[in-house]
Amino acid sequence: MKYISTRGQAPELSFEEAMLTGLARDGGLYVPSTWPTLSADEIAGFAGQSYEEIAFAVMKPFIGDTFGDDEFRAILKRAYASFAHAAKCPLVQLDDNHYLLELFHGPTLAFKDVAMQLIGQMFEAALKRRGERVTIVGATSGDTGSAAMEAFKGLDAVDVFIMYPHGRVSEVQRRQMTTPTEDNVHALAVDGDFDTCQALLKEMFNDFEFRDGVKLAGVNSINWARVLAQVVYYFTSAVSLGAPHRAVSFTVPTGNFGDIFAGYVAKRMGLPIDRLVIATNQNDILHRTLQSGEHAKTGVTPSISPSMDIQVSSNFERLVFDLYDREGAAIAQLFDALKDDGTFTLSQGAVDLLRAEFDSGKCTETETSATIKSALTQTGEVLCPHSAVGVKVANQQPKSATPMITLATAHPAKFPAAVKDACGVHPELPAHMADLFDRDERVTRVAGDLGAVQSVIRAGIKS
Ligand SMILES: *Cc1c(COP(=O)(O)O)cnc(C)c1O
Repeated sequence: MKYISTRGQAPELSFEEAMLTGLARDGGLYVPSTWPTLSADEIAGFAGQSYEEIAFAVMKPFIGDTFGDDEFRAILKRAYASFAHAAKCPLVQLDDNHYLLELFHGPTLAFKDVAMQLIGQMFEAALKRRGERVTIVGATSGDTGSAAMEAFKGLDAVDVFIMYPHGRVSEVQRRQMTTPTEDNVHALAVDGDFDTCQALLKEMFNDFEFRDGVKLAGVNSINWARVLAQVVYYFTSAVSLGAPHRAVSFTVPTGNFGDIFAGYVAKRMGLPIDRLVIATNQNDILHRTLQSGEHAKTGVTPSISPSMDIQVSSNFERLVFDLYDREGAAIAQLFDALKDDGTFTLSQGAVDLLRAEFDSGKCTETETSATIKSALTQTGEVLCPHSAVGVKVANQQPKSATPMITLATAHPAKFPAAVKDACGVHPELPAHMADLFDRDERVTRVAGDLGAVQSVIRAGIKS
């Protein structure tokens, strides 16, 4: 399988190269040159199989010969060994025909672990074979940083440095980043806000001497390998409700559009998905796009579902590429306009295609809290605020005989204050993290200044 850029001007890459590169050199995102398909019989054969076996079959057509079959099976086994639930991503029933897909049983309690744990193992295997080491630097407002540190800690071929805004992440989030003891992962508390951290990251990638000197790599949400890993749980959950003999629909709490795009990929591969519903909080750029065809940035308003507080939904570009029949030049034009003017308008043909596959809904702050409360009363489930946005929007959809699966993207204990305010219950950390508040913290406080951060990174790299 070859990978091509959505903007049509970057070289074609193999899976391994696309994974290690992240962003394409023409500013676009890598996508597979075609969508591989699985037959109904192959999908039916997934019934009763383990998560890892289904993951192998779903991902194999995309990774080609990057890993041998036995090697890839071993990678999958290592990746998901850290999950605290035997089913990895279990399904829970909420109502007659509404199900919750729990994606938060990984080590940092958010769905980011599902992809990050896997790419940690894939990076390590590919880099060892190439005899290379890389330095992964990331900026986080909360969930991605700890997921990356947990995924790469203790690996030989990678050093990880995660910048977060000092004093501006929750205590659980901070402790998840400052308590890993392995000496190849480092938390940097930067003086400034999340934008400061992101700007520093961008400057580092543009400083070619530094970039080449430390072999800088990125694992942010536009990395194709992360999207791919998320395709798997659409298959496991749909099959357990009767696919391919019965269609299902999904509602996905959405920020950067990575998770729901994985659902679109599953559908392209032949999984019978009826509706894909985009659920947004008050930062509703995608909901507005579906309604009006205009994709227009506004400022971000902080919410109680902070992992969905976004201004630009990076992975949306991958979908727009398909909506425009994979015309790279058209995509470059649209996304240049977004950068320069903060907006673009989809053609009528593109809007029709978008609405043919997706629906959308928006959930206000009050509705998020009310949904946490009503879900507890009606089902006994304690939802995190992101999952509550999904459940609310799913409930707004027209009644249908097709089962609805809402993705639960984080464990409620990751957002204890919002959950307690909404329903009066203080969500407890699961057993594998119960001692989080007793562990020693290790963090480097650093000025929000490129030179300062770069010297901390240079000094911290193992050689
Ligand atoms: C990252 C995240 C999301 C948004 O996922 P995208 O792939 O960016 O759309 C939703 N909920 C939680 C808890 C997250 O961490």
